[in-house]
Amino acid sequence: MTIATDKPVLFVDVDGVISLFGFAPGGDFPGAFHSVDGILHCIATDCGERLRRLEEHFELVWATGWEEKANEYLPLILELPFKELPSLTFGEQAVFGSAHWKLEAIEQYAGTRAAAWIDDNLDERCERWAAERDAPTLLVRTEPATGMSDEHVEQLLQWAEEHRRRA
Ligand SMILES: [Mg+2]
Repeated sequence: MTIATDKPVLFVDVDGVISLFGFAPGGDFPGAFHSVDGILHCIATDCGERLRRLEEHFELVWATGWEEKANEYLPLILELPFKELPSLTFGEQAVFGSAHWKLEAIEQYAGTRAAAWIDDNLDERCERWAAERDAPTLLVRTEPATGMSDEHVEQLLQWAEEHRRRA
């Protein structure tokens, strides 16, 4: 397989990272509501800018139960400079509220490359996978009510920088 980039991969979950839920009712919403196939999603403010910063240092890959819908909706909503990203498919395995069903597709895509993964549902199976990889691997957990923050972005960029220096 030829790899077009030596950037590490960043697997990006959507629900709980970009599309927020579980925030306190009554206050200001943490994003703007958008209809995705007729269902309203609260898409986090500033996530487009965060993904743009990350895209300079990572190959971004959608790793979400949204599958191809991520490309259908998110680049437009988030005003991303790219029309689409690679997106993983999971067959019928998607289960809301967990993430281990993503492991097979993630492992297959990552191969021997350095890889980071941002998700709100990383469990012990995901941790075991990360610990057992030979290539540098970083798991970044989000809270579904707040999603990806500037701190998460800084953590990812710092890790990518360290990886670049080591390589
Ligand atoms: Mg999620």
